[in-house]
Amino acid sequence: MRTTATYFDGKSAQAHDATLELFGPTVQVTLSDRAFSVNNETSRVVEPLGNGDWAIELPDRQQIRFTNKEFGNALCVEFRESRFVGRMERSWRWALLALIVAIAGSWAILTFGVPVAARHIAFAVPPELDKKLGRESIDLLDRIMFEESELSDDQTAPIRAAFANILAEHPESADYQLVFRSADAIGANAFAVPGGLVVVTDQMVGLFENDAEIASVLAHEVGHLRYRHSLRILLQNSVSAVFIAGLTGDLSNITALSATVPTVLMQAKYSRDFEHEADGFAFDYMEAHGMDMNALSNLLQRVDAGADRPGSSGIGDWLSSHPQSTERNRDTTE
Ligand SMILES: [Zn+2]
Repeated sequence: MRTTATYFDGKSAQAHDATLELFGPTVQVTLSDRAFSVNNETSRVVEPLGNGDWAIELPDRQQIRFTNKEFGNALCVEFRESRFVGRMERSWRWALLALIVAIAGSWAILTFGVPVAARHIAFAVPPELDKKLGRESIDLLDRIMFEESELSDDQTAPIRAAFANILAEHPESADYQLVFRSADAIGANAFAVPGGLVVVTDQMVGLFENDAEIASVLAHEVGHLRYRHSLRILLQNSVSAVFIAGLTGDLSNITALSATVPTVLMQAKYSRDFEHEADGFAFDYMEAHGMDMNALSNLLQRVDAGADRPGSSGIGDWLSSHPQSTERNRDTTE
């Protein structure tokens, strides 16, 4: 794009004929005796007031005036864009800072925002949806992971009794249920499934040596349920579900999370905060009943030892859904 213009050298009032040609962000100025180029670092465009002339102001009071409005508008666009891009390109510090801010922001949202949102959403999910999610989760676990328990009623009776004792002290948890499943592949374990379901594997029952150990595991899992840890960890692992529920307030799709239950509950570790909360709930119960406070860590040490045996895949063991028992020992003896 080109236009005719008038050039003033800043020293005299004499006007010189000039031709301007726009090459991207650069204007080529051709005079009768010489040519030079200007850009937005060495000059600025002055838009006309009313029907006046456009001007390009240069150092030392040099000036170029023209009337071609189309050229002026194009020049403004080029200068403005190149100024913005140029500033960004020149300033790698700003680019780096922007990148760091973006990463830190995403990290903060994932680390703090999503868990906080997940907590709010988990406690806002109506009980019937929570139960539906739980039913779909256990159905799926039964299909892909669990087999029917081979325990006799005599073997499960003391465990059922211990579970009933815990619920008796927490009327709001009266509808929680205890189920037994065999799970060769995942070994000794206990899970809290959303909707108020505690699953104990036959393999875990085989490790129980006394009532205190039974109570400590059951109370720990009831603690997970009471604080809705399972639902919260499902939500935290599905950031999109958190955002959709948070933005739309629509919680009905929460049951779709059941598809993620096997992966998340089996392989994702509960956070240490969740474990401490569940442990705290269990220890309160144990203390109130004068039970051995070391029961849980004693049991977990035997679970650890058993996890190395052949036939245990390790995946989904108490080890992976719960922190190392050595770590827990240390924490709980503080
Ligand atoms: Zn736990």
